[in-house]
Amino acid sequence: MTRSAFVTRYVYGFDEPAAGGRELLGGKGVGLAEMTQLGVPVPAGFTITTDACRAYLREGEVPAGLDGEVDEHLARLEQQTGKRFGDLEDPLLVSVRSGAAVSMPGMMDSILNLGLSDTAADGLARTTGNPRFARDSYRRLMQMFGEVVDGVDGHRFEQALGDLKRERGVQQDVDLTADDLARLIETYKAIYLQETGGEFPQDARTQLRRAVLAVFESWKNPRAQVYRRTYAIPDDIGTAVNVVQMVFGNKGDRSATGVCFTRNPSTGEQGVYGEYLVNAQGEDVVAGIRTPQPVEEMRARLPEAYDQLLDTMARLEQHYRDMQDIEFTIEEGRLYLLQTRSAKRTAAAALKAAVDMTSEGLIGREEAIARIDPAALDQLLHPMLDPNAEFEVAARGLNASPGAASGAIVLDADTAEERGKAGESVILVGWETSPDDIHGMIQAKGVLTAHGGMTSHAAVVARGMGKPCVAGCDGLTIDAAAHTIRLGGHELREGDTITIDGGTGRVIVGEVALVPPQINEDFETVLGWADDVRRLRVRANADNPEDAAKAREFGAQGIGLCRTEHMFFGDRLPVVQEMILARDEEGRRAALDRLLPFQQSDFEAIFEAMAGLPVTIRLLDPPLHEFLPPIEEATDERMRRRIHALHEENPMLGTRGCRLGIQWPEIYEMQVRAIARAARAVRERTGEAPLVEIMHPLVAFKEELRRLRELTVEIMREEAPEIEYLCGTMIELPRAALRADEIAEYADFFSFGTNDLTQTTLGMSRDDAEGKFLTFYLEDGVLESNPFETLDQSGVGDLMRIGVERGRGAKPGLKLGICGEHGGEPRSVEFCHKLGLDYVSCSPYRVPLARLAAAQAVLKEAHRAEYVAAGG
Ligand code: ADP
Ligand code: MG
Ligand code: MG
Repeated sequence: MTRSAFVTRYVYGFDEPAAGGRELLGGKGVGLAEMTQLGVPVPAGFTITTDACRAYLREGEVPAGLDGEVDEHLARLEQQTGKRFGDLEDPLLVSVRSGAAVSMPGMMDSILNLGLSDTAADGLARTTGNPRFARDSYRRLMQMFGEVVDGVDGHRFEQALGDLKRERGVQQDVDLTADDLARLIETYKAIYLQETGGEFPQDARTQLRRAVLAVFESWKNPRAQVYRRTYAIPDDIGTAVNVVQMVFGNKGDRSATGVCFTRNPSTGEQGVYGEYLVNAQGEDVVAGIRTPQPVEEMRARLPEAYDQLLDTMARLEQHYRDMQDIEFTIEEGRLYLLQTRSAKRTAAAALKAAVDMTSEGLIGREEAIARIDPAALDQLLHPMLDPNAEFEVAARGLNASPGAASGAIVLDADTAEERGKAGESVILVGWETSPDDIHGMIQAKGVLTAHGGMTSHAAVVARGMGKPCVAGCDGLTIDAAAHTIRLGGHELREGDTITIDGGTGRVIVGEVALVPPQINEDFETVLGWADDVRRLRVRANADNPEDAAKAREFGAQGIGLCRTEHMFFGDRLPVVQEMILARDEEGRRAALDRLLPFQQSDFEAIFEAMAGLPVTIRLLDPPLHEFLPPIEEATDERMRRRIHALHEENPMLGTRGCRLGIQWPEIYEMQVRAIARAARAVRERTGEAPLVEIMHPLVAFKEELRRLRELTVEIMREEAPEIEYLCGTMIELPRAALRADEIAEYADFFSFGTNDLTQTTLGMSRDDAEGKFLTFYLEDGVLESNPFETLDQSGVGDLMRIGVERGRGAKPGLKLGICGEHGGEPRSVEFCHKLGLDYVSCSPYRVPLARLAAAQAVLKEAHRAEYVAAGG
């Protein structure tokens, strides 16, 4: 077209090449242009660019030149179709459809059948000899235009349609006659007049212009804003607008409209998977106006169109090399495509499609790896609610740990343990959980708490155990004394059955059918490919032999964090309390001597479960008060005084971690001794020495680690001189990261404890942040993501970078890992790869995800390198 190259061009025909792709034309526009240029049957049309939308939103008026360009393209469209827009006898009709660069399904609007008026509808009826079709199209236009452009409440139109159907004694829209529709049009006109104070616009160009502006405006509607915030879509990218020649699925029995996937989106199996409706238009299929038919039915009813559909889908898959989700319309036996996009799919389907497409030669292995969303793998490792089950949601909380479970409500950990051991399915329900409840959590099928966030005790422990957890469930209150709970509107007793879905946060009264986890060959195949590609090793956080075995099954290459504090609870707690409350060192040692055999057998079991793979054992970390009863429960005055003396205002920053081991070395001595004896025993029993790594928590000063290393070396020499081991430290305080050079002198390895490092760097106590001001920060956009879930790369991550540089600067061979929750979060895994860590360690159920994310990190890096090499 003849315009100076310096003026921004705002409109492109589907058949005109445009640089700028999806950002400029939107997803829908790019798809329509690409299909047109491929020779796939698509109605003619053009796209008004996102540039135009942005200019309009910025200036508050139509940008100069846009009207003229639209006129030119409309003229072209008239030429291509042989019809005139605004013609009163045989009008060209168009749809106006929104389409941003990022898909925002259902957020913005489309209007069909623009160009109809009272007179044009009569003309169309005459020209087509099909008054029913003409009037059906017109009444649809009035409703969509009324709703989208003038904000008329859609219910008013629905209501009128429903009333008419009732009066005529028919079930479905298609059973209304041409005469009925003529009456409906009169009613709609009255509604439009009443609601807007004006007549329905009769001029086609006015309709078009107002429709385009309404789509621009719809970018700002509250629903779209909320959606963008939820999915982190920038607010300023705007939408494109597509003007498309109408093709009609509502012209009679040889016309239809439908949606279809090129493979099954829930299983990934090959073969078309879709639904269609005869004699219908636009959204009728998804809107549930009539029950649609499976697409296979078309084979008998509209065989030619069906063949064409299969053929077209095969071509689209070949072209996009990915599973597509399409919209189509058949007008009197002829097929038209109206949309194509990459299909949303379940994790199982994504894996199957990726593996199949690789063997079909459509994509390569690396692309197969790149296509799987690591976070979605979680879905596969846990039972889920049966997608076909029907139920009512009683309350909602945070989706704290994925998977679903049904069981009897139990309100305390001891009962949960008892009934769980007896083989009953129980859900542990409480205001929150604490380390004291572990035994109950182990036996429960899932955990539901009223308080707490994504990193509350319940959430972290449940994720570690791979059990479903719904936390922070506002609709839950508990009356422990009465053994009852309130859940949403329901009053329930201990023992009643509930179902929780930790993947979505839903809580349901009663039992819901579950479907089992879907680990299968495809899963193994893709992860095997990922293993060939990744550089980072993946370990697991595991505190007991069961978790260790699970971790191995999921491909863990060792244990990166074996916490020892859980070994201090349960029936050992009284001895631990005795140790803490002892008057002097002698008393402490006596209690510790009794604990030692327990610790030793714990370690033996874990070493055996991880034979051949390294196990990092972290010495006692939590503040002592976690082992003590509340002061009110002190049995005597001495105990009361001792509890009082150990009380701390801020225990997370108090006497914990290596500070315990420095002040009372006999505690760590006992632990190291237990490790040494366990290693020895296992070596004797199996002939293979375990790969032991001893880790000291919460080190800030090199002097701390110097002393603890000395202690470690001494005991190991004494107990098991033949056992090789590493001695290292957590890096979880900013000072440790900054002084990594000095600390490295005494460390064989560092493990970044990013949970505490995040707390201490941000000065945020996790328990006081989540569910409180942090929630506000996230909602209000102060922060984009929760730093306890996704590593704060520029802050905490920068300290890690410093720790890596200074640590390896002082000691080049220093082994580096991460053992915070972040070790299993895909973006954080990529960051760890870039930092050059040796391994990430995460909960067993996240191991597959980390393996995949680590491979994707390599591919992204390679991709960037290629891009740079190509001068990009
Ligand atoms: P959404 O993004 O909500 O799917 P669309 O713009 O894709 O909105 O359109 C809504 C419905 O109308 C879809 O079913 C689409 O196939 C149909 N449709 C849109 N434009 C046309 C057209 N020109 N001819 C026939 N059907 C159309
Ligand atoms: Mg669509
Ligand atoms: Mg820590």
